[in-house]
Amino acid sequence: MIRCPATRKTASPLGAKRQRLHDVVTEMVDQGLVVGTSGNASMRVAGGPHDGQILITPSGAPYRTMAPEDLLLIDGDGEPVEGETMPSTETALHLAVYRQRTEAGGVVHTHSTYASVLAVAGLDLPPILDEMVLKVGGTVRVAEYAFPSSAELAMEALKALDDRNAVLLRNHGLVGVGRTPEDALEVCLLVEHVARVFVYASLMGRAGTLPPGSVQLQESLFQMQRRAAGHPSTDDI
Ligand code: 13P
Ligand code: ZN
Repeated sequence: MIRCPATRKTASPLGAKRQRLHDVVTEMVDQGLVVGTSGNASMRVAGGPHDGQILITPSGAPYRTMAPEDLLLIDGDGEPVEGETMPSTETALHLAVYRQRTEAGGVVHTHSTYASVLAVAGLDLPPILDEMVLKVGGTVRVAEYAFPSSAELAMEALKALDDRNAVLLRNHGLVGVGRTPEDALEVCLLVEHVARVFVYASLMGRAGTLPPGSVQLQESLFQMQRRAAGHPSTDDI
């Protein structure tokens, strides 16, 4: 009998997770959130023999030809479990987020245009649209600059991320965090949309923020949801 390794992998529970992360990566590319091979994405595996391990995109690999089987499986220290190519050079960043944010099941890093405009200008993205606070947790802060792929970048990103779902990397790009990789991608899409609105409204000289009472209420709802969510389960990831 001829066995196809790719089919075997996709039919297994881990194969299904590979497919999910691959779908997220494809959507990230289709939505224009990355240029060339920039950006990366990961997913924390919950339950089963791979519990706590991380699926992550390979470094510098062209997205258009990337298959679910090309995603790498690493442990919580970044050591390879499955796959022979090099994992993303931002692995330290992804692992640091999972360590700090135990409820997170997905991390997406993009170089999208309007988020990058703010990251270059060094401008935080204030709460200007209602849907943003509930999904992201409030102002998206710009982290201090650090060299791409460095441990310092991971540390600065975590400081600015704190308990929210997005952070701008100074002169670099954006990181979105979610309970699932799909959620993390949604955060990146939302931040890019809000950043675009903010840039245009600022050009008109009229970027008004939401009323402070509304922001406070939505921030506390966001934190309640986050705490209630607890650790991700096999149902999520
Ligand atoms: P990788 O291809 O190594 O994931 O790097 C892309 C990137 O965006 C670095 O910040
Ligand atoms: Zn990057």
